[in-house]
This record gives sequence, C-alpha cells and structure tokens, in this order.
Amino acid sequence: MPQEYVIFLLDDGVYPDSLNQNRFYKKIPQNAIFEQICMDATLNCDQREAVNTLSGPLLVLAGAGSGKTRVVTVRIAKLIDTGISPRRILAMTFTNKAAQEMQKRIASMISTHRENQPEISTFHSLCVRILRRQIHNLGYPNNFSILDASDQNSICRKVLREIRVSDASLKPRDLLYHIGQWKSRGISPKIATRDADTDREHLAAVAFRRYQDELTRCGTVDFDDLLLLTSVLFRDYPEVRENEADRFDHILVDEYQDTNDIQYSIVKSLSQKHRNLCVVGDDDQSIYGFRGSDVRHILNFASDWPGAKTIRLEANYRSTEAILEVSNRLIRFNANRYDKVLKAARAGGQKPRIEQFGDEEHESKQVVTSIRRDLESNGRQPSDIAILFRTNEQPRLFETELRKFDIPYVLLGSHSFYDRKEIKDLVAYLRVIHHADDEPSMRRIINNPPRGISANSVSALVEIATQRGVSLWQVMLDNEALQTLKVPARMSIRNFIETIRSLQQTFSENLELSTFHSFLSAIQYKKEVLRNSEDEAETEQRWASVEEMANVFGAYLGRKRKPTLESFLEEIALAESDFDDDKDDQLDRNAVALLTLHASKGLEFPVVYMVGLEEGLLPHGRAVAAEGPAIDEERRLAYVGVTRAQDELTLSLSLTRRKWGRVQEQNPSRFLFEMIGQADNPHDAVVKRETETTNH
Ligand code: ATP
Ligand code: MG
Repeated sequence: MPQEYVIFLLDDGVYPDSLNQNRFYKKIPQNAIFEQICMDATLNCDQREAVNTLSGPLLVLAGAGSGKTRVVTVRIAKLIDTGISPRRILAMTFTNKAAQEMQKRIASMISTHRENQPEISTFHSLCVRILRRQIHNLGYPNNFSILDASDQNSICRKVLREIRVSDASLKPRDLLYHIGQWKSRGISPKIATRDADTDREHLAAVAFRRYQDELTRCGTVDFDDLLLLTSVLFRDYPEVRENEADRFDHILVDEYQDTNDIQYSIVKSLSQKHRNLCVVGDDDQSIYGFRGSDVRHILNFASDWPGAKTIRLEANYRSTEAILEVSNRLIRFNANRYDKVLKAARAGGQKPRIEQFGDEEHESKQVVTSIRRDLESNGRQPSDIAILFRTNEQPRLFETELRKFDIPYVLLGSHSFYDRKEIKDLVAYLRVIHHADDEPSMRRIINNPPRGISANSVSALVEIATQRGVSLWQVMLDNEALQTLKVPARMSIRNFIETIRSLQQTFSENLELSTFHSFLSAIQYKKEVLRNSEDEAETEQRWASVEEMANVFGAYLGRKRKPTLESFLEEIALAESDFDDDKDDQLDRNAVALLTLHASKGLEFPVVYMVGLEEGLLPHGRAVAAEGPAIDEERRLAYVGVTRAQDELTLSLSLTRRKWGRVQEQNPSRFLFEMIGQADNPHDAVVKRETETTNH
C-alpha cells in the first residue's frame, strides 16, 4: 500500500526553519515524497532534469506530446516538496480548464493547506486579480466590470452612430476587430490615429478613442484591457510592479509559444527580480498569430535571459509511431522553425486513414457511422473520441448526425450557454447590482422586463451622461436630470433604483442559493420569460435556462468558502471568454467532443477525426490568398490537430461543398499530400545537401 504523504502548512503559509519542532507539521523526508511523485508520474531523464532545475531561467522547448505540461505540473510539486511555500508559486496556463486540471494533478501528488495553494491561472484571471487591487491607480474603480463581446458590440454601434459612420463604411464587428488588433499589440488610440494609412483605418481609430472613453466613463474594461492595463500599470507604476512581483518567487508558463507582446512584458515584469522563470512550449504549435502572439518570444528566450538553461524533450508519449510519422513529416514543410527530434515512445500503431467523400453530407454521415462502430464494436467510450475542424460552420452537420443516433456530444468552443437571452439578462442584472455604473448592462435591463422606461427616455438620459462625462446611473440618481422626463417614466426610474439598491443590500449579505431566488422575484423575471414565449413549450425552455443559471450559481457557492457577487461575476466573465466551459461536461457526460483546432491545443484523445482537409478550409481561404507565413501558421494548426491523436487518426475531406447555398468543387488540402509524402519538401532537400557536404 503506498503511504499517503501530506505536508501541512501553518495558516500563514510559512515554513518554520525546523519542521520537526512544530506540532502543526507532519512532513515526510523530501526524497520519499519525490519518489512518490515520480511513481505517480513517470519521468524520463530530460524531464527529470527539467523538474530538478529549481531556480534560474529555464526553457523547455519540445514537440507535441513530449510531456511539457507534465513537467510543469511535477515541477510545481517538486518546488513545494523542497519547502517553497505553495502560494509563492505562480503558474500560467492557456485556459481555465487547463488550470483546473493542473491544480487537480498537483493535489493528487502533494497535499497543501486550502489557504496555501499555488496560484495556477490563465493570464486573464491573473490580471483580473492584479487589477482588482491596483486599477484605481489608473482612475478606474476597483469594482470595475468586465464587458462581454455583445456589450462591446453595442458600444461600437453606439460610437459609430455618434460619429455618423454608416454600416457600409465600417461595421461594428469590423471596428471591434481593429480594436482587438490594436489592443493586443499595445497600440493606443492616439498612435492608431497617427499611424492610420487609409480613411477606413482613420475612422476606426477615431471610433477607437470614443470607444475607450466610453469604457472609462462607465468604469468598465474589455477583455483585452485586462492584459493591457496590467502592463500599463507595471510600466508606469514601478511600486505597483514591485508589490505584485514580490508576491511570487517562482513563475511557470505553459504554452509559452502563444504569448503576445503584452503577456510577455507581464511575465518579464513579474520575474525580473528573482529570475526563477520556467517556460515550456513548442514553436511548431504557435497558432495565435492573429491575436498578436509572437513565436519569437520563445525562440529568443535564451538570449533574453542570460544564463538560461534549455532542455529539449525528444520522446513523444502521446501518439503511436504511425501517427507521429505523419505529423513529423507535415511540420517539416515549415520554413522558419527549430528542427526538433521527436521519436515515438509507442512503436507501431495503425496508419492514419484518409477518407474522401463526394459532398459534406456524406462526410458527416460516414464519420458518424465510423464513430458508431468505434462505440459498438471497438469498445470506445464517447469521451475517447474527438472531431476536429477549422471553422465554426463545420460542426453543424456532424451535430445533426450524432443527434440522429443519440450519441452524446459536446460542442467545445461554443458560447451558446452565455449567448442565451435569459442568461445575458440575468448576468446584466447581477453586474448592475455589483457595479451600477456598468452602462451596457444597465441599458440592457433598465426596461427589461418592461417597466415604462421608453427607449427615448433612456436616450435622453444617456445624452446627459455623455455630456457630463458620467455614467447613466449617476444621471438616474440626479433629480434635476430626471425632470426632463415625463412623470410616469420618472416614477419608474425611482422604483427601479429602489429595486437595485435593495438587491445590492441582499447580495452584500451572506450569499446562499435563496439569494438567487429572491433576486429572481425582485426583478420579476418570470414576466420577461412569459412575454418572450409564444407557447408553453417555449416558456419551459426559457425558464430552463434560468434554472441552469441557478445551477451555475449553486455550483459556484459549493466551490467557494467566501462567495461574493464580484468573484461569481468574474468566474462567468472568464468562463465565457474561454473556449472550454463545456470541457468539464465532456468528462462528466462522457460525450464525443466537437472542437475547433484552436480549442484543441494541449488536449489528447484516443480517437481523432480531423475533417474538411480541403484547400480553402485548412489551409483557410484567407491564408491561401495571402500565402507565405499565413500558410505556415495553418500548417502549425494542422500539426496541432494531428498531434492530438493517441491511437487512431482519420483525415477526411469532401470534393464539393456548399458556399452560400451553391455547390462548389473543393481540392484536397496540400497538407494531405505533405503528410503522405506526395509533395516535394524543399527543406528536406536543403537538409540532405548539407548532410552530403558534411559527409565529404
Ligand atoms: P502538447 O505539446 O500537446 O501540449 P505536452 O508536451 O504538454 O503536449 P503532455 O500533455 O504533458 O505533453 O504529455 C502527453 C502525454 O504523454 C500525456 O498523456 C502524459 O501523461 C504522457 N507522458 C508524458 N511524459 C511521460 C513519461 N515520461 N512516461 C509516460 N507517459 C508520459
Ligand atoms: Mg501541453
């Protein structure tokens, strides 16, 4: 029987010099625990070296499935084992789900006190926590709210209307895209205006300034701001940077190849002093170029951090040799990369299948037929299987087929839950209760359910707010401003203010499930559900969403020792932004996973179907038009996809596909030819010539 080893820490999280003298502690000799860790998670020689390099800058640069994430996890356990207080360790992962997974694995290796856990989070959640402590330095309230995509969209619509830009010249969605691009590169409205090349860009830059003013006026931030404002704080307020950096002695970053300039500067600010920075990643899996991630950060790590140790892992434990052969062959077609050795630890295996169909309906039917076979005759579980695709339009047909045969599935990377009207309304209410200046939320709920506050009244108040540079809520509280409205509207606003205030009181007390029920009745939300439903069935369906929200709240209460409305809203905002709030479902519900290649990063499945391997889809049409580096990025995406498979891989394509209703011919993806060795690899030729020369 393996013994259970436990490290207890004092509440303040400090280890005394001599552990044995303290009655609060029971600690097993270090080596014993570490041997235990190694038993749980076998490590090869190079992985062991990485795990045992406990200080200074460390880079683990290695191919897919080589155990990088495992190294990060075990290294954290090892750090704790050597006596470093868990809460002095910060690890960054790419998604919330990955963070939870890592937390669980560490907990299975080593026990720590509840209060003293390593901080494992995404960049965004880390930044939320930093900003909650520090954002007042930038003139925002510390209880700022975080906007979601639809709020951002409505603000874009509003500012474009104000500067009289028609939809034809610039759509809100396009403006948002520009803003995202600028923000992820740290470009301010001022610089954007200065550098605008075209009229359209100039318009967008002007709108960007207004958009940003609108956000500051309401004390709200968008998702990109979380990172951007943190880096601005660190740049302009050295004492803030030092305070935040002093919280940790060790920093670890997974998927480092996908950090953008801002994330890079945040990591740098936090690690500069202690230099205990361990990053792991794979340049071949850098797939977020469109969000400003820059593979040079990982490639320049050694020169960036003098004295850095670089470790390479060369064994792939995930996929069979047959699958690895195909993925290795594919990625060698990329021009600018570190050539890495990646050998299969699992010899042999089934050759990947390539299947070609007449149209996309046949493709989906056959893939699902094959999945049924996997389930019925091959002993697979639904959760062993994934369907990977490039674009969001692709999964629909697969969903239809899976439904037809009652095969449970989850669509990952879809935000459907938080996109439902009921959920959006309720979240908006909660956000107003928490931070009444949150204007997009206020506008959403002020007359929802209808309470006699017309759109005209709201516009009149918003106009006053904009003139005065204050929020809508501030104007609502101002009796003089309300005089501009008719008496019934004025009365309704006053009642509404009362409701919000009393809910603020309710939510500031102890949070319980009953709080949610009082909230629902106070806002009379059932009325809104009835109003929007055509029949009983619809009412039931909409009410089910409301119930689901109560479930989300209940689950949150169950998880938190000190639940607050603020942290509940934070969890929602972060889950929404993530690709993976449904990933838990896949495990819980044992369902087939349907996910985009982007969302598949870091995951693994025994059986993978990668579909739509066609020119124009993978590589994406935009990349085909641009050629060059854009194609290389698509190839990395394809590489990420292929390397998710553990035992079986099927690549499929369709020779025709409907576009805007019309049937069009499709060509097989160039990546297919590359994978099966039917394309000339210019880089192989170069390598060969070089070897020939050295042989002479
Ligand atoms: P990716 O690049 O896709 O993120 P990764 O390098 O992070 O992959 P992991 O996910 O850590 O790789 O590991 C891949 C698989 O190999 C996991 O199932 C992991 O448990 C297993 N693995 C890692 N190291 C070893 C080892 N030394 N022995 C056996 N299995 C291992
Ligand atoms: Mg990984």
